[in-house]
Amino acid sequence: MATRSPQKLLREYRAKRDFSKTTEPQHRQSAKNGEALSFVVQKHDASRLHYDFRLEWEGVLKSWAVTKGPSLDPSEKRLAVRTEDHPLSYGTFEGIIPESEYGGGTVMLWDRGHWEPEGEPGEGLKKGKLTFLLHGERLGGKWSLVRMKRDDKSERENWLLIKADDDAASKAEDVLKVHERSVETKRSLKEIAEASDAMPGWREPQLATLVERVPGGSGWLTEMKYDGYRALLAIDRESTRIFTRNGKDWTDRFPDLAAAAAELDTSNTLLDGEIVAFNAEGHTDFSTLQRALSSGEQVSCFVFDLLVKEGLDLTDKPLRERKKRLERLLKDHEGTLLYSAHTTDDAGEVLTKLCKGGHEGIIVKNAEDPYRPGPPQELVEGEVFATSGTGHRRIFSLGQERAPVRFSAARRIREQTSCLSGPCRHRI
Ligand code: MN
Repeated sequence: MATRSPQKLLREYRAKRDFSKTTEPQHRQSAKNGEALSFVVQKHDASRLHYDFRLEWEGVLKSWAVTKGPSLDPSEKRLAVRTEDHPLSYGTFEGIIPESEYGGGTVMLWDRGHWEPEGEPGEGLKKGKLTFLLHGERLGGKWSLVRMKRDDKSERENWLLIKADDDAASKAEDVLKVHERSVETKRSLKEIAEASDAMPGWREPQLATLVERVPGGSGWLTEMKYDGYRALLAIDRESTRIFTRNGKDWTDRFPDLAAAAAELDTSNTLLDGEIVAFNAEGHTDFSTLQRALSSGEQVSCFVFDLLVKEGLDLTDKPLRERKKRLERLLKDHEGTLLYSAHTTDDAGEVLTKLCKGGHEGIIVKNAEDPYRPGPPQELVEGEVFATSGTGHRRIFSLGQERAPVRFSAARRIREQTSCLSGPCRHRI
């Protein structure tokens, strides 16, 4: 049987939702070849509490609403009403669906992992019997989904979710009671509901310190140093605000960036980045930015940190984890918000390379560090070298080594970040 495209499979999913109102994901992710098939269970406090059971197949999540939730007891057959296919990106969604919208209520990530079908799942779905192994954090062992005889009066496809009798089965343990909180954020439904309800406000950004030497050893992430306006982007369901590093609301000055941020599939989220414009050499350049602002030309924003996501404060998480989530959030965005890529290559070599390209410098960050607000040990402006105390971020100025470069301005955005990951294309 020919594989149907996820676009077609998701038609019903999209038709039911107004993506200007809900923060549920609207994009599909392409299935990653060779990776295990994912599964997710979402506890969904809608008009009626239920558990959405979803199995990845054909590039989408095949879905069932399990009214009473899964049971480890093989004699407990749980009604599972088949629902529309969901995009793979839904598998990481936790947050709020507005009351006025389809499925309005709170969604909690309850379990996740991968599943192993027995036989061909496409066949099983058609015939009405799927048998599979679950490898989740809470659910394991062998399970089956069996379609019940269709009641002609009903539009619904009713299935039963049944635990097979194996080591993972249990008559005594109520797995839903044992685990009442999110598998991802450890929050209760109430905590998710409360947290997702507000827009995060301004907070003091983490600042860099100029230092003399690149740090040795491993565990460092190196990013470009951008020459623009530091900004915090606060996103909620209704609006977006852009704050300067000192807390001024500059949303009105960057309406296009605010609109771009509003398009992201998220709410109650706080991003940290640098608003930039590119000069003819493809470098971020402050005077170009000022000109772009007065003439109304397009500006971009390199986003390098994620402080709050869906109401969850991430500042205590290690930087590498915050950036992984940030990259995922910006993955499908094709507008002016650019993910600030990093490299784990030797920072000294990166500096030399970028030096030749005439860039302003690099910022070296400890991959394991939390986000800490505050000024640097010494505030140094301009291209002056200084030594930091225990500065978390380090900037290296390139000073006199600046040299004229020539390359197409059209390639500027790609060039700007590709320097970090590949050989630098900038020529002296
Ligand atoms: Mn649901």
